[in-house]
Amino acid sequence: MVRKIAIANQKGGVGKTTTAVNLAASLASMKRRVLLVDMDPQGNATMGCGVDKHDLAYSACDLMIGDTDLANCLVRVAEPAPGFDLLPANSDLTAAEVGLMSSPHRERRLAQVLADVVEDYELVIIDCPPSLNMLTVNALVAAHGVLIPIQCEYYALEGLSALLGTISQIRASRNAGLAIEGILRTMHDPRNNLANQVSTQLVTHFSEQVYRTIIPRNVRLAEAPSHGQPVMIYDKASRGAISYLALASEVLRRQEKRAA
Ligand code: ATP
Ligand code: MG
Repeated sequence: MVRKIAIANQKGGVGKTTTAVNLAASLASMKRRVLLVDMDPQGNATMGCGVDKHDLAYSACDLMIGDTDLANCLVRVAEPAPGFDLLPANSDLTAAEVGLMSSPHRERRLAQVLADVVEDYELVIIDCPPSLNMLTVNALVAAHGVLIPIQCEYYALEGLSALLGTISQIRASRNAGLAIEGILRTMHDPRNNLANQVSTQLVTHFSEQVYRTIIPRNVRLAEAPSHGQPVMIYDKASRGAISYLALASEVLRRQEKRAA
């Protein structure tokens, strides 16, 4: 059974793309069949996988406006072996978002596209843009769960309530089964007292929903995208690589628990 996970937070720069790329790569290295979907016109997940967003025959835009089918758009990312599939994106996706507005199925387009691949993958990871726009709504309508990366700082919780509100609306109108997959603390620096306080607050409020794995601030995670590599290829011994492997294990454990 496939599980589709949207990585979402409308706050910019909280580690969505870093999480999407490295979670996809970690799951692939654990021999899971993985599809990574780039739903952000910035195309950062695409570039982070070493795929040139300026040189795409077909991209998520073509798929969202119905010009082609998924198989035509997919790019194989070979490392870590056995690799994973990527649905790449670039700035054209902004045009697709505008085009979607006039479609009667505008909120369900991605769900429709991904309905065809349930047999092909065990996990689909969807990287969302930093906004609660129609692309994010498409991801939330298509997904089984939302993974919310949070940087533990003063305004983090404020943004979270807007996202939780959107998730409730989507549940009420479009996707009743949408779960909070988990809340992930990212770019954590244990020497920062405020980060520790916010981290504790998150656990108090959301208890089990907060992943035990904490992603540390790690320069290797920031460097890896400029080499077009997931961190487990760029530096597999780094704390960043080890923490994303731990996250992948935790995601799989939760999935097994849910199925039991
Ligand atoms: P956007 O909202 O623009 O899509 P995002 O939420 O996807 O941003 P990222 O692009 O993953 O966030 O991360 C923002 C920046 O922080 C990037 O330069 C990334 O390399 C860096 N970064 C992410 N996670 C870490 C980390 N754990 N340690 C150090 N740097 C990190
Ligand atoms: Mg991003």
